[in-house]
Amino acid sequence: MKKHNFYAGPSILPEFTKEKTAEAALNFAGTGLSVMEVSHRSKEFVAVMDEAVALVKELLKVPEGYSVLFLQGGASTQFLMAPYNLMDKKAAYLNTGAWSKKAIKEAKFFGEVVEVASSADTIYNYIPKGYEVPTDVSYFHYTSNNTIYGTQVPTPDVDVPLVADMSSDIFSRPIDVSKYDLIYAGAQKNLGPSGATLVIVKDAALGKVERPIPTMLDYTTHIKAESMFNTPSTLPVFACLQTLIWLKENGGVEAMEQKNIEKAKVLYDEIDRNKLFQCTVLAPEDRSLMNVTFIMTPEYAELEKEFLEFATAKGMLGIKGHRSVGGFRASIYNAMPVESIQALVDAMQEFEKMK
Ligand code: PLP
Repeated sequence: MKKHNFYAGPSILPEFTKEKTAEAALNFAGTGLSVMEVSHRSKEFVAVMDEAVALVKELLKVPEGYSVLFLQGGASTQFLMAPYNLMDKKAAYLNTGAWSKKAIKEAKFFGEVVEVASSADTIYNYIPKGYEVPTDVSYFHYTSNNTIYGTQVPTPDVDVPLVADMSSDIFSRPIDVSKYDLIYAGAQKNLGPSGATLVIVKDAALGKVERPIPTMLDYTTHIKAESMFNTPSTLPVFACLQTLIWLKENGGVEAMEQKNIEKAKVLYDEIDRNKLFQCTVLAPEDRSLMNVTFIMTPEYAELEKEFLEFATAKGMLGIKGHRSVGGFRASIYNAMPVESIQALVDAMQEFEKMK
């Protein structure tokens, strides 16, 4: 039976990424060695890193004056590296979920954090609007896509530099990088396996804080060493490169956005139509194109377990919702084919007919 991968992360990757990475796991760039076995300083691997950086710049139209890094430690390490390097005395944060909260917690080690707004009151099922961001802050931090709650944030229109955790929607849509001092993303959703963390940082934003920064946590260390200050995660970076190549061959982030809008519509339309289900995010403009969260309508609440078993038996993997939201979550990242979304919709319709 065909399996449909709705896991939130690590999650679905293009077949191209998996095939090329499997090949290189045995014979990398004609060396006869695995990509796991060659030095990160070999000319073959340096070429991988260089091409990956160049493709990130090309696909996201990264302007001059920004550095692209492949680091380790996940987005969670960026929660502290961002304020360590960029926060003078004060920074503003938007609290749209568990990941924002974790970022806020780390920032508090470095100075004053202004939480400009929060949607914690209703389990983060909407994106706050109409908040004000103070102008005397080093930056405004937000989580662009809330993986757990199924909400997504358009680029905020504020008067201070932006810092964004784009772990779960990077490369899903075009972004204006010039508005940001820092963008970071764990690779394990739209880019590659876990183990690599993408960082895009504005060079001119660095070197402004007075506190000393430990070497490994200082962005300038990694900029100078071109992401090779310590041994990079070579296999994950190789896999990320394959996804970047795939993205370019498939029309880049502009084409991805179009496809993602179409794909998400198929599922949201069914949730809104089907009498058994309802979306946890009420305002259509707040709904994520990457993680679709839904629950049973109150009338049919007792059918949750039964639908989960029914859908799983039909090959839907990873649709159980996060424990803080309950219900279901279908993660439909760039690599998710519309056929898999249709298979889930078919299962929802079949289940509805049985009831
Ligand atoms: N931020 C977001 C939006 C996420 O979805 C996740 C993980 O799922 C993280 C941060 C944490 O990333 P990592 O596990 O790479 O530290």
